[in-house]
Amino acid sequence: MPTDLCNRLQQTIGDLLPIRAKKESMPAVTEEIAFQVCLSPDCGATFGIDEILTGCPNCGSLLDAGYEWDRVAVPFSLSEFESRCGQRSRPIDFSGVWRFRELLPFAHDEQIVTIGEGQTILQQAESVAKYVGMDTGNLFLQYEGFNPSGSFKDNGMTAASTHARIVGAKMTACASTGNTSASLAIYGGITGLFQAVVFVGSGKIAYGKLSQALDYGAKTVQIQGDFDDALIAVREICNRENIYLCNSVNPFRLEGQKTIMYRVLESLSWEPPDWIVVPGGNLGNSSAFGKAFLELKQLGLIDRIPRLAVINAAGANTLYEIVNSEGIHWNDGRPQHSHIEEYMTQMDAENRRAETIASAIEINRPVNLTKCLRALSICDGIVREVSDEEILHGKAQVGAGGFGCEPASGASVAGAKRLREEGMIAPSDRVVCILTGHQLKDPNATVGYHTNNDEGSQEFANQPYVVENDIEKILELLSSFQ
Ligand SMILES: *Cc1c(COP(=O)(O)O)cnc(C)c1O
Ligand SMILES: [Zn+2]
Repeated sequence: MPTDLCNRLQQTIGDLLPIRAKKESMPAVTEEIAFQVCLSPDCGATFGIDEILTGCPNCGSLLDAGYEWDRVAVPFSLSEFESRCGQRSRPIDFSGVWRFRELLPFAHDEQIVTIGEGQTILQQAESVAKYVGMDTGNLFLQYEGFNPSGSFKDNGMTAASTHARIVGAKMTACASTGNTSASLAIYGGITGLFQAVVFVGSGKIAYGKLSQALDYGAKTVQIQGDFDDALIAVREICNRENIYLCNSVNPFRLEGQKTIMYRVLESLSWEPPDWIVVPGGNLGNSSAFGKAFLELKQLGLIDRIPRLAVINAAGANTLYEIVNSEGIHWNDGRPQHSHIEEYMTQMDAENRRAETIASAIEINRPVNLTKCLRALSICDGIVREVSDEEILHGKAQVGAGGFGCEPASGASVAGAKRLREEGMIAPSDRVVCILTGHQLKDPNATVGYHTNNDEGSQEFANQPYVVENDIEKILELLSSFQ
């Protein structure tokens, strides 16, 4: 199978127009309130939520979940959601995703698939605030690594799994740099509702993540190629074989990821911060955040939308280039698609491949690019790139003054520091950095940083000591720690 797959890797996403999959189960009862809608204002086609789609069958654009909000009983105030939090005996109230279910109303309560995701915390991180250059009390870290599989992906996977159940899917699949596969695997394993198949590239994958997919019982297929290659292949396979695709082109996944912002607001007593800073890979998170804020504003639940800063790794900086060098914008739903296409063609012609230690964002063809452009427009957003070195220093700061994170997450702290230095972020602003994954996902990167003295020691390295097995020598060393 892998060789067969490799032969198709040269196809572009444009060739892979989604086809409609046939319905395999009863139509969902919420069909009248929720629907799928094409992102392109020139198409605007709508589809039932019981259809398995990974893009608009008419024009190939991305799809959104849409709702007839006037028929949804949304609470009058956001704090009503908070009161559900303590109901441990009721899984859909305890879930940090589904306690906000009226804001993603595509499933009936009994259809919801939850494993207790979303028990995250927002830390007011003083030492990191100092590092970034913020006033005391103004920098917050949102730990999404506290999710069951150790990354924010569970917010999306609970929603995609719920939709998979609604449409009666028996097999689910994803391409992954690691965390999506860990998340899909845990939902497949715990619920037993479907067989999870995960496709990983042959490049970098952090062992913590690979080990999870294997341990949770997902069928794991390694493709010769990188993540971008694997995703193109798995999209085609899912279309052909009617397998349920759980990458972030799945509009329901992004519905779940909106709740990251709800929990941030909840932790800030529903007072929107000035900035949300998030690493950008496939751009699902940033896209979901934009949609979350737009909907909250339209529903009258917030009166101000925070600004969004999306941070690319310099070695995987397509969004950064598209926005800042190519000058492409959302443009009311009509971004210059041909210009984007040209950029991608040029990238392929030069064989430019994504390359960064932050493997979770080592992506050069972000599938949610246009949705992210929309989010940037909604949130008056900006895009920056940071080097691997800055990412690792940011990560080390989080480790030293907080609960730790994986490399990709360090990009948000590094990005915030950059923006402070530029003067874009003021020290008095309230800034939330999203920490997307758990520290234990990629111990090699962490140990490498702290022990590597190739290029002189790393700025914040906490080097281990080597000492003879001699009590006096050990005591001598200890005395130097005081
Ligand atoms: C998936 C992932 C990202 C990238 O998020 P996108 O929504 O694809 O931009 C960043 N960090 C970690 C740890 C991830 O797992
Ligand atoms: Zn369309």
